[in-house]
Amino acid sequence: MDLHEGLFFTTREEEMVRIAIGIMVIGMARLASGAQIDNGIPHAPQVTLEESKGAVIEKTVPVGPIKVQVVWSKKTAQPVIAITIDDCYSGALLEKAHEVAIRNDVKFTFFPTGNAVSQYPKMWKEIYAFGHEIELHTQSHTQMTKMSEEGQYDAYRKNIETLRSVLGEAVTFSYVRPPCGSGVFGYEKSGCMPSYRRAVERLGIYNGVPIDIAMWSGDSLFIGGKQSSGEEVQRYFRTTLSPGMIYLYHTRKADVGQLEEMVQYAKSKGYRLVTLKELLVDT
Ligand SMILES: [Zn+2]
Repeated sequence: MDLHEGLFFTTREEEMVRIAIGIMVIGMARLASGAQIDNGIPHAPQVTLEESKGAVIEKTVPVGPIKVQVVWSKKTAQPVIAITIDDCYSGALLEKAHEVAIRNDVKFTFFPTGNAVSQYPKMWKEIYAFGHEIELHTQSHTQMTKMSEEGQYDAYRKNIETLRSVLGEAVTFSYVRPPCGSGVFGYEKSGCMPSYRRAVERLGIYNGVPIDIAMWSGDSLFIGGKQSSGEEVQRYFRTTLSPGMIYLYHTRKADVGQLEEMVQYAKSKGYRLVTLKELLVDT
């Protein structure tokens, strides 16, 4: 039991019951708000505590009706897209991306690792203050498929703690993105790995706001079996641009170097560039 758990829960059983109650409350709030995202993926069956790894509880306690959703894109006719940028290991390229946003009056959504946030705290404060959306990508880019539910939960909890230490304790998050899509790729039929879904449900309780899993619909990192060039990134963007797309980029030269042209091209076609939450919830 680590320090955090020790502060709030005396036993594993108590923790489970608290999580169950919390998930029910969040689930009811979410149903009441009518939030629904069309991601083409059927909702998972109700998760029970009995299924939780290592649970010592005999009885089955339903933790629904909350449903962690796996989001790939937004079904919409409106010309609106979201540009997302992952990992953020390069402070210089992160700054460049932010400058593109300032010059063109658009917002991006960043999925930094906790480690990347610790390296450039001042930059992240500025990015957050500007109105970019910042979401979760684990503390150190760990693969979901290589961890237990506890490991998955911890990887994001540390990511939250790091971000809160920089941005303020009241900051909440709405999405996790699994490094390399691990835990979702190969599980598309059911949405994602069962343990990952439970870890994300629990994370929503810790976060204070329910969390969904954000994937993407536009990815040009690898083209023709190798990392793409800037030219290929630009061509991919222009040929796939359509309403509701979620584009995935990284802080690498081939991506960030093309951002300004991509943004201006999209705008010239009448597109609005919004953050992920704006795309999925507000449009
Ligand atoms: Zn990543």
